[in-house]
Amino acid sequence: MNLILFGPPAAGKGTQAKRLVTGRGYVQLSTGDMLRAARASGSELGKRVAAIMDSGGLVSDEIVNALIDEKLDQHQGAPGFIYDGYPRTLKQAEALDALLKGRGSQIDLVIRLEVDEPALVARVEKRFKEEGRSDDNPESFKVRLAAYNAQTAPLVDHYRGQGKLVGVDGMADIATVAAAIDAALDG
Ligand code: AMP
Repeated sequence: MNLILFGPPAAGKGTQAKRLVTGRGYVQLSTGDMLRAARASGSELGKRVAAIMDSGGLVSDEIVNALIDEKLDQHQGAPGFIYDGYPRTLKQAEALDALLKGRGSQIDLVIRLEVDEPALVARVEKRFKEEGRSDDNPESFKVRLAAYNAQTAPLVDHYRGQGKLVGVDGMADIATVAAAIDAALDG
């Protein structure tokens, strides 16, 4: 199973991905988590992406495509992969299609978490106070949402055209969202 969890920042993709990791043994491929780990390790890559991430902008397609390629190699034979926060541009979506094709595989399903922007802003304000993640500050979050709307939201058409898109109400409580995702995966 190759599943893309699609939706704006703070839509709940990470929470749902982690549940699928525990419940189904899938591997979560979160480029945001990989980049944060690179920063925490003090690597060259981490230093290169730090300022862009803090501003809320997108790092280059080449960097994230290479991270995904490496993880797919590391986890060969996993029962499933959840792409969380990737792809975020049409170039990334095309690169992912090619990476999977080269492995005799393909994207099976794209679940879009449908959420309301003002509610997201409120959710992130709360998360910023509780967790202090630097790119959750209100200015950066505005940039992240704008990047999503300009560069990522158009991917919906790419996957709708392939007949792979399923919408789920991301404003429902976590258990209800989880049940809807399970129904899409098992149905
Ligand atoms: P996330 O945790 O997915 O919201 O990602 C945090 C930040 O990492 C984003 O605001 C971007 O700066 C960067 N990032 C994560 N994934 C990608 C991606 N697929 N393409 C470009 N930048 C990304």
